[in-house]
Amino acid sequence: MNMLDKRTKIVATLGPASDKPETLLELLKAGVNVFRLNFSHSNPDAAKATVERIHAARAAMKMPVAIMADIKGPAVRMYGYAKALPIEAGCRLKIQSRPSEGLEALVSPDPYTVYTNLPDLDSLCAIGQRILLMDGYFAGSVVARDRDEITVEIGNPGELRPKAHLTIPNVDYPIPFLSDKDISDITFAVESEVEYIALSFVRNATDIEEVRRLIGRVRIPSGRKPAVKLIAKIESAKGLAAADEIVKAADGIMVARGDMGVEIAIETVPIAQKKLIRTGYLEAKPVITATQMLESMIESPMPTRAEASDVANACFDSTSAVMLSGETAIGRYPVKVVETMSAIIRAVEAEFDYENFHDDLPPAARTGELPSVVSYNALSVAYEVGAKGLVVLTETGHAAQLLSRLRPRMPIFAFTKEESVYNQLAMNWGVYPFMLAGPEESMDALVAETLESCKYAGVLQKGDIAVFVAGLPLSRRGTTNMIRVESVG
Ligand code: PEP
Repeated sequence: MNMLDKRTKIVATLGPASDKPETLLELLKAGVNVFRLNFSHSNPDAAKATVERIHAARAAMKMPVAIMADIKGPAVRMYGYAKALPIEAGCRLKIQSRPSEGLEALVSPDPYTVYTNLPDLDSLCAIGQRILLMDGYFAGSVVARDRDEITVEIGNPGELRPKAHLTIPNVDYPIPFLSDKDISDITFAVESEVEYIALSFVRNATDIEEVRRLIGRVRIPSGRKPAVKLIAKIESAKGLAAADEIVKAADGIMVARGDMGVEIAIETVPIAQKKLIRTGYLEAKPVITATQMLESMIESPMPTRAEASDVANACFDSTSAVMLSGETAIGRYPVKVVETMSAIIRAVEAEFDYENFHDDLPPAARTGELPSVVSYNALSVAYEVGAKGLVVLTETGHAAQLLSRLRPRMPIFAFTKEESVYNQLAMNWGVYPFMLAGPEESMDALVAETLESCKYAGVLQKGDIAVFVAGLPLSRRGTTNMIRVESVG
């Protein structure tokens, strides 16, 4: 796929269907920008080899690719059964509270007795309490209680997958935000210098700050300072209510519709999605729309019409990225599903009204601090002069993110000296990162170097106009204060 073919980024979850070296290359060619490692189903030992394979694949493809370690968080799941459990309507399932330590390895002697990491089940649930299993696929109610145990009568038939989620609507779970496993997974992710860590069930800004403190204590073998960015997964009523402070505290958010769809009324999920996407881009932070986007392609070579519309609508809402979960992790068509998603994105982006988006941005995106004012007006100039690209020099990625939030028609070529920023920007809408090779010289030399790189990559041609955005003095961070128009020679 041509580098400039699409602006919206694709996050693909890796698993047995996709983590082989040759599949990683095919996934990148099909349009993946970010690989997600799901620590609900993985651990540092297993993930280490996958991280190495991704590093090899992105080096072979000479392209920026981000790795996102998705941490399990205070998710409540069921354990004790290794294979899918057949469920009849009216079937009674005993669920017992067990300590988290070693829980994943336990096997229950009775198939219809399962374990959970949620303590004090009996005191959390009254008789009649509604219970949802496997992201709401099964609904039931509590019919009996014993010490640390409830019995749930399930209303519908199906197969209960191992490690399925357990949801008790409207109940606050008495478990800490980070378990020992989460702390060890986060430490591994920081030591491995992955670009993003996604945090499940974030409830407030304090949760993010707790993780930042933990990250600050990790020593990286390379001696570099941790540069990992944090994505807050919004998936509960509490997280939604605190979305504004969470977006400010985190580096990006995920609309985690899987758990959200059982934690809040299903009909409010699309509204939450639209609001969260807008909150995210106005803060100039990436927003990932996730879960069940092309779910039927786990089994089928073609998505449903509704799924195709779902991906398209997320793009029309201006999501930064769309995510695949089971589709690429365990699905039968991991590469085809990415090709399908890329095709849908391209179709939307051919129709999107970019100029109108720019004109309709609220005052907060065009006024206030100088970097916002400069970015907004740089794009106005770019439209006015018919520029083919925006070129931005960025140290932390922020200057590129300010342009990205404007969702410009033309690509944003972001030049940085930091390899972490280069790969992180793979997540941001419309941003095409480049490594800045030369030593820092004059602005004229930087303009010449960046235009040459764009020409060499085939993304700008002789005669094209490019609008430059940068901060002077170059060595000072956070000083986006310059707009310069250049013609490619
Ligand atoms: C979700 O709930 O939508 C999600 C992405 O989280 P997980 O896959 O970890 O349940």
